[in-house]
Amino acid sequence: MLDLRKMATYPFLSECKRFVSSLNISVEDLLRDITYEKARSFGIERVMNAFEKGDVGDRKLISESDFLSEILSYPIAKMISVCVRDSFMVKRYALGEAKRAYRHLLEESQDFILLIGKELGLDAKLHEDGFDLHFVDYLRYAPTNYKKWKLVNREMRRGFVYLDKRDMVRILQEAIMSKIVEDISTKPCIEDVEDIFGEEIARIREELGRYKKRISTQPVGRISVDNMPPCMKEILKMIQSGENVPHMGRFSFVAFMHSLGASREDIFKLFSSAPDFDEERTRYQIDHITGRISSTEYSPPSCEKMKTYGLCPSDKVDDLCKKVRHPISYYWKKVKRE
Ligand code: SF4
Repeated sequence: MLDLRKMATYPFLSECKRFVSSLNISVEDLLRDITYEKARSFGIERVMNAFEKGDVGDRKLISESDFLSEILSYPIAKMISVCVRDSFMVKRYALGEAKRAYRHLLEESQDFILLIGKELGLDAKLHEDGFDLHFVDYLRYAPTNYKKWKLVNREMRRGFVYLDKRDMVRILQEAIMSKIVEDISTKPCIEDVEDIFGEEIARIREELGRYKKRISTQPVGRISVDNMPPCMKEILKMIQSGENVPHMGRFSFVAFMHSLGASREDIFKLFSSAPDFDEERTRYQIDHITGRISSTEYSPPSCEKMKTYGLCPSDKVDDLCKKVRHPISYYWKKVKRE
């Protein structure tokens, strides 16, 4: 049985959800009653911190009422995030919760970490001073594009991968983020939430709009985003809004930018604005594709291959697309037209 402090630290756990249900508080009271004012203010802080800093942060909790407000602020924050009605915000919020959980989990005992792993459905067990995690779960959550995380570089016994505490907690961060995204992606926006938190929601939407506009037109080094072909613009948009871009999409985009002469640092910056940005993984991918840490400097795929990979957006192709056979040719032809 978890105490209030633990539930306030890990509010996404099912025990915490059961605890909140047992309080029999109606959604209307939670959103409007003066009793829950502090919970609402904590909820707004959670969302704004996630949006602005990528971590929902910690509040100063002293009394029992503080802990209760912190616990209740979690469902409130989720409701607000849903009402922003933007997949970027959903991921950004989930990441903010997962990052906070990561920080706290590093301080927890092995037994507790294992408990959280089980709650998240991971097939894991204790192994000396670390953990054994089933390889299926490992592959699901590990940033395997990074060398250290490749399965071949791991110690594996009878289908279980050995992880030290930090790496196990890193896996949990991914699993927590994925659980929260799954949870809130299916929830509708409650009208009352839009009324009560209208100001905050409008502020986030406004900043998101400005941010998206800025990143969609900002030149990358000397490369103009405006002159990019529809396929690459689409991939860029997906990366920056945190949508799940298939591996070939990320590969094609990095190779495309590299062929146009973008520096690794510039390409890196484009990825860094994604809500689920993973610095190590991104650096590894870019360094690999651009030939810095591999023997091959990869070229971007032709239009024909882009179509085969499902990366050519048929509803967005334009007249210039019909005259080229390669996204790179599209770019230079467009530049010449300027
Ligand atoms: S036709 Fe070629 S350049 Fe145009 S969107 Fe498709 S893949 Fe890109």
